[in-house]
Parts: sequence; C-alpha cells; structure tokens
Amino acid sequence: MELSERIQHLKPSVTLAAAAKANALKTQGKDILNLTIGEPDFATPENIQEAAIRAIKSGKASYYTPSAGIPELRQAIVDYTKKNYGIQYEASQAIVTDGAKFALYVLFQTILNPKDEVIIPVPYWVSYGEQVKLAQGRPVFVRGKEKNAFKVTVSQLEEVRSTKTKALIINSPSNPTGMIYDKKELQAIGEWAVKNDVLIVADDIYGRLVYNDNEFTPMAAISEAIRKQTIIINGISKTYAMTGWRIGYALGSQEIINGMISIASQSTSNPTAVSQYAAIEALTGTQEAVEEMRNAFAERLNLLYPLVSSLPGVTLNKPQGAFYLFPNVKETLLMCGYENVTKWAEDLLEETGVAVVTGEGFGAPENIRLSYATNLGTLEEAIRKMAYFIESKSQN
Ligand code: PMP
Ligand code: GLU
Repeated sequence: MELSERIQHLKPSVTLAAAAKANALKTQGKDILNLTIGEPDFATPENIQEAAIRAIKSGKASYYTPSAGIPELRQAIVDYTKKNYGIQYEASQAIVTDGAKFALYVLFQTILNPKDEVIIPVPYWVSYGEQVKLAQGRPVFVRGKEKNAFKVTVSQLEEVRSTKTKALIINSPSNPTGMIYDKKELQAIGEWAVKNDVLIVADDIYGRLVYNDNEFTPMAAISEAIRKQTIIINGISKTYAMTGWRIGYALGSQEIINGMISIASQSTSNPTAVSQYAAIEALTGTQEAVEEMRNAFAERLNLLYPLVSSLPGVTLNKPQGAFYLFPNVKETLLMCGYENVTKWAEDLLEETGVAVVTGEGFGAPENIRLSYATNLGTLEEAIRKMAYFIESKSQN
C-alpha cells in the first residue's frame, strides 16, 4: 500500500529511537550506560501514586472525562500557574492533554494552514519541526549562536520573519542546551512578537528544574500584552517524575484552546482519567519530592559539568536548567579520526556501552546530548569510559 506523503516524510523521534536501541542492547545482556532519554529515574512520589489508587478504587477513574480534562484539574492547573508564576487564566482557558507533546501537536493542528511558518530556534527539541510539518506548516529554523548560549536574538528573528510567520517556539530552559532566556531577552522577543502578531509557543516544561541560583521566568509573566500573545505548553512528566502517566497541558486564548479541545474530542477523547486524578495531587499536594529531585539533578550537574568539559576537544556551556548537557564534540571527532558524530557515537556504544543521542536530530550535528536524569554512579562511569574511548582513538 502507498502510505500517506505525510508519513513518508516523517522523521521518527531520535531521542526515543536512541533510548529504544540502548534498551534493546541491555535486554540482550550488554552492559549499557544509558544517557539517552530525558526521563527522571525517580519513581512517581508516593502521595501521587496513592491519589491514583484512590481514584481507581472509588470508581471515579472508570469513565470518560470531558475532552478538555476534568474541571478540578483544569482549575488546579490555573491555580498552580497563578501561585508559582503570578499568571492569571480562567479554567476554561486550560486544556489537559496526553503529555505536553500532544499539546504541541494539537496546537499546531489548530493554528496552522498549509505553508504557514513557525520559527524554531536551533538547537531545538526533536519533535517541533516534525509536528509543524504534520500540520502542513513550514518550520523556519534560526540558529542560536554557541557564544550566545545558543539563544536567538530579535534581529535574527526579524531576518526570517515573513508574511507567513504564524508562531515562534521558545523553550526555556531548553532541551537540549539547558539554557534559560533571561527577563530582558524574553521582553525583547515578546515585544517583537506582539508588534508583529506572532503567536509565542512557550514550552515551559523544564521551568521548575533550574539549578545554582539561576532563575526561570515564563514568557507569559513578562507583561499582559505578551501573555495574550502566548500559548503556554507545560506538563507534569519532568517535574514530578511522571513521564509514563502522559499528562500535559496548554493555557492561552479561549479561541485557540477551544480549537484544541475540538481536535482532542475527535482524536483521544480525553487523557486517561486515572492520570488526571494523579495530576491533581501532583499540582496541589506536597511539593517536597520535587525539591528533593531538583537537588539531586543539581548535584549531578555540578559533578558532571567539569568532567565533561575537560574531555579532550569538548566545548560546553554550563547548563542552567533541564537535565541535559550538550557538548560540542567537533574537535574531539577530529582527534579521534571521525568525520561525523553518528559513526563516533555508534562506536562509542559498541565499544564502551555508553549510549548518547547525536546532535543531528536537534539541528546541531557537531554536538551530542547527554541526559543526567540517571544515577550518579552510571554518569561517572559513562564519562570515565568516554574519556578512555577518546584517548585510545586519539592515539591510533
Ligand atoms: N517539550 C520538551 C522540550 C520536552 O523535552 C519534552 C519531553 N518529552 C516534551 C515537551 C514533552 O513531554 P511530555 O509529552 O512527556 O509531557
Ligand atoms: N523529551 C524527552 C527527551 O528529549 C523524552 C523523549 C521525547 O519525548 O522525545 O529525551
């Protein structure tokens, strides 16, 4: 059968593919140190697990929920956003989705007509461009300079703006770089978006995973005009170690949210009921575990950063948030006698068992992404093995 053109051109998620490969090798009995996936290694906190069990036992998780999510959860999302960031929405302006990834998917389906353009800063999270294309839109990539911590500026955005520009994605803290846009940078970009009527898609999913005196400011908190120009994408996967529960959300203009709800009603019907009850507890219950996990990530970052920066040939900005390191390994490859990062990473995996994600899928072929959402022992051993691998290749 001839499949749709859409699917013929779709690039599957490289992060999920790298993780699947590492897991398959592990299942075959290989010793794998997996630094691929951006998924907390912690179990979902007890209080959240218990809320889910209560929802199952009481029977209330047995049924379809409204497509936009259960009203208590929509209210909890709005209250959480007000409490943590001072940003005000009505509960009707929130939609609960099957992960933040699906919130983005539904958003692009809602706002894009064929050939509408979405500006995507590079390096980008692997799904943005493909999701825009699935909605028949056109991703327009703008490369953040490494010396500007990979962040884009208004003059770069202005260079690629056209009459077709519909939206701009800002992901801060960023996957894969871990960099954060400060208030001044956000204000400049936000004002540019308001002036040119470009919708800002603010992917704030790593907003609570920020370390070492760095601060996260959400785009929508900058001003009322910018809030109105913004759709917030967020979720509970990363902050609450709940990747498997698949709950994300979006907040924004009623018109856009209503469109997203219609698409949800004709696609998933609703996010899994039990996960929604668990999400209420995550957002409204004790936040103790969040702080413990955040401290653990900070400790890993602070231990790992000097080790990775001192690997031969590597250049690396110190991440401020999320749980990734994104070193440039161009010089390392040359020293090791490789032309591209793909073959280097394949050999690294084959010879040492260290699994990383290569930068191509993020639009940065000179880089690799290391996730530190795994335990310290694994991380230390992986870097030791990587150092040994580089050293032995360099001598050949
Ligand atoms: N945005 C970014 C930047 C991410 O890294 C992820 C990770 N999966 C997501 C969105 C989606 O997260 P989820 O679907 O698990 O909520
Ligand atoms: N966002 C995570 C990552 O970048 C999970 C995988 C995915 O959804 O792509 O590793």
